[in-house]
Amino acid sequence: AHLDRITEVDAGVHSFLHVATESALADAAAVDAARAAGEDLGPLAGVPIAVKDVMTTQGLPTTAGSKMLEGWVPPYDATVVRKLREGRLVMLGKTNMDEFAMGSSTEHSAYGPTRNPWDLNRIPGGSGGGSAAALAAFEAPLATGTDTGGSIRQPASVTGTVGVKPTYGAVSRYGLIAMASSLDQGGPCARTVLDAALLHEVMAGPDPLDSTSLTGGYPDVVAAARAGAKDGIAGLKIGVIRELHGGEGGYQAGVLARFDESLALLTKAGAEIVEVSCPSFTAALPAYYLIMPSEASSNLAKFDAMRYGLRVGPQGVEGPSAEQVMAATRAAGFGDEVKRRIILGTYALSSGYYDAYYGSAQKVRTLIQRDFAAAFAQADVLVSPTAPTTAFPLGAKLDDPLSMYLQDVATIPANLAGIPGMSLPSGLADEDGLPAGIQLLAPAQADDRLYRVGAALE
Ligand code: GLN
Repeated sequence: AHLDRITEVDAGVHSFLHVATESALADAAAVDAARAAGEDLGPLAGVPIAVKDVMTTQGLPTTAGSKMLEGWVPPYDATVVRKLREGRLVMLGKTNMDEFAMGSSTEHSAYGPTRNPWDLNRIPGGSGGGSAAALAAFEAPLATGTDTGGSIRQPASVTGTVGVKPTYGAVSRYGLIAMASSLDQGGPCARTVLDAALLHEVMAGPDPLDSTSLTGGYPDVVAAARAGAKDGIAGLKIGVIRELHGGEGGYQAGVLARFDESLALLTKAGAEIVEVSCPSFTAALPAYYLIMPSEASSNLAKFDAMRYGLRVGPQGVEGPSAEQVMAATRAAGFGDEVKRRIILGTYALSSGYYDAYYGSAQKVRTLIQRDFAAAFAQADVLVSPTAPTTAFPLGAKLDDPLSMYLQDVATIPANLAGIPGMSLPSGLADEDGLPAGIQLLAPAQADDRLYRVGAALE
């Protein structure tokens, strides 16, 4: 049914870069056979899933939205993908994304944009717009994402779906094509909080192949979601982050109205609302846009035309040097946004500038962690709107990188601090009838609180 739905709507939505019809049907048949044979299968066995194209999939093309990897079929699975296979989920295909996960609209994909199923002239968020649109268009009931600065949560917000960035280290980064390694985190995308919890449980866990993988402290997120839905959240304190609640940042009136309504619902579910202040958050966006490009410029150095991916010979040069091939390949293979960030990152890391830029940004990171520590001393869960606006029209921010970066103002602090965050729908904004999202944040390794509160609110 989902493959049929993809055939029906994906020419318009363009959630998928690759649809794995044959292997999906074979995997589904194998699950049916196993079930008929009385095998004990996990709770998501046979459930179709769409996989963000930044995750390596053995035997299925993986491009990360870039020309640089066009036609590449990885010889190995990302750990997350291996876990999906072990859980017997059925992979429907690979979803569209901003090139190397850089963007907030999926317009930076080298393969054309994904469109928001709520309004095909609008963006589905990014970088994981393909996964979010696949859910919103009912092309898949579950999807995977990665979140370095909001790429799971912001697309969830603008498509009316649920997205979770787990605690840094909870989901293995092995086989996720790296953007900024100290920020990258895989996570679940779904249409309900309980669905996200079930997928979270499959994706998370220690992994010797990722040196930053957490060795313990994985809370039971499924139990938490069930408890939140059944028992509410009496006694919990919810902190509204003052710096992310209107004021500066261009928050849309309808987004704020739905957010305030969600606060009233949280009170009704038994929570106490308090206000907290995180003064360093005003520096989060600039710090992120130094740290992220710095790490990305280093991670993307491996696309050197020698090891894998695209190789372009420079025009009119006979017997070109390795350096000439590398330069011609990187010029042809990377899109403008990726080049912009490589230039920013190499500049910030260049000798003599390290302390002024990268070093200062790392200090801001510490301040943000301290702000969170102080806020979590006053509240169990923090909340804000996920994104300042609903889905904007395609093309609206393409020529203005800074206004695109401002989409991330509320999501980035969680990445800088390594804490978990969830976005879930708060309703439709009055002025445009489009989905708005509320973000929940919890202390590191307390991902269960997100699910408890999220399920109570849903
Ligand atoms: N909008 C963020 C950026 O462009 C998204 C990054 C991410 O989470 N992959 O950097």
